[in-house]
Amino acid sequence: MRIAVCGAGIAGLALAQRLDVLGFEVVVLEKAPGPRPQGYMIDFFGPGYDAAEAMGVLPRLHELSHRVDEAAYVDAKGRKRAGLDYDKFARAVGGRLFSIMRPDLEQGLREQLSDRVDLRYSTSIEAIDNRSDGVGLRLTDGSELEADLLVGADGIHSRVRAMVFGDEERFIRYLGFHTAAYVFTDSRVRAEIGEGFRLTDSVDRLMGFYALRGGRVAAFAVHRTPDPTPPADIQTTLREVYGSLGWVVPRALEACPPADEIYYDQVSQIRMPEWSRGRVTLLGDSCQAVSLLAGMGASLAVAGAHVLAEALAAEETVEAALRRYEREWHPVADEKQHVGRRGARVFLPDTRWMLWVRRVALRLSVVPGVDRYIAGSLTGKPVVLPKPSAARSGRRG
Ligand SMILES: Cc1cc2nc3c(=O)[nH]c(=O)nc-3n(C[C@H](O)[C@H](O)[C@H](O)COP(=O)(O)OP(=O)(O)OC[C@H]3O[C@@H](n4cnc5c(N)ncnc54)[C@H](O)[C@@H]3O)c2cc1C
Repeated sequence: MRIAVCGAGIAGLALAQRLDVLGFEVVVLEKAPGPRPQGYMIDFFGPGYDAAEAMGVLPRLHELSHRVDEAAYVDAKGRKRAGLDYDKFARAVGGRLFSIMRPDLEQGLREQLSDRVDLRYSTSIEAIDNRSDGVGLRLTDGSELEADLLVGADGIHSRVRAMVFGDEERFIRYLGFHTAAYVFTDSRVRAEIGEGFRLTDSVDRLMGFYALRGGRVAAFAVHRTPDPTPPADIQTTLREVYGSLGWVVPRALEACPPADEIYYDQVSQIRMPEWSRGRVTLLGDSCQAVSLLAGMGASLAVAGAHVLAEALAAEETVEAALRRYEREWHPVADEKQHVGRRGARVFLPDTRWMLWVRRVALRLSVVPGVDRYIAGSLTGKPVVLPKPSAARSGRRG
């Protein structure tokens, strides 16, 4: 059975790895000319951690991860106002947590693809013929591809979703924020941050910084705005919105790279009544984006890939597998989206009162039991994944 996957991001690479191990023929289509170097730090825990372990990719991801000791909120002079001990949070989720840059997570997954997987960069889909017995694809390089199933793993602004299910406006739910992320080198800022994750303790906008190897710093920014449209001039907007936050922020904004090296997007969720139509299904942010407010999108992308691959391995027909994938995974995604929306005012307070409430809650996190309560409210309900099955012969070709 041949499966075409559109998108070599976290979801697409995880699915390709698992399908290949299970004996399927896999073609991955990625519109970028090569691996994307831009990125941001990802806290990886929950069902994605369990799925990565079940898929056998976890040790390499750990090797590529970063050590973070604490998430500390600091004021405009750099003084700590509140903090969350990462080791405590890690213990509260059973030690099953690491922090990893998105390009490194993708690299760790990509490295574990066998050379049987046909990974094509600079390639996307121009037209889809969605039939009851398979899909015919016309690709942007002019070639054609026949597959038994097409999986759209092409992110929150999915083209596969638009071509098969309809316009983005029907499914996107804007949460009222914009976000940006970039990496820069500045030894003074790097020294100021230490080994942790430092965030500004501020209302309606915040910048956060992670120390990377080699004197580099990963910055990310979030601010409230009623308008979902991204600005025309990203660098100027970042300076205008965040410039007065104080501490290392002005230096970090000075070091901001050109717009094509900055990740910038609205913060949104994707909500759909169904993820599959005929021989096309969706995976990862394309159908279940939870947003950075949930802090679990990458984890859910890997776990969803595991669930879909196992459903395809277990069921006799593609149709039955897609029904099973949706039955097992859609409710989980819905619940994590709810967790993300619920946490929005804690993630980015909208009043000085909420800022104070967050400080108090974080101080209480040193009390035994409260740390587990906080971890539970950040992660939501526990998720049970299907057991990994053995490869079956005769699936390729
Ligand atoms: C600032 C920020 C912080 C975050 N922090 C966390 C965190 O701490 N923990 C966590 O778990 N998650 C986090 N997330 C969420 C996480 O990054 C996403 O949920 C995750 O990247 C989704 O993976 P994906 O593979 O579905 O989509 P993507 O990562 O968007 O990958 C989609 C891929 O498809 C490709 N593509 C797009 N269009 C086409 C096309 N037409 N044809 C072919 N290819 C195409 C893209 O180039 C890309 O390679 C964060 C997100 C942001 C923005």
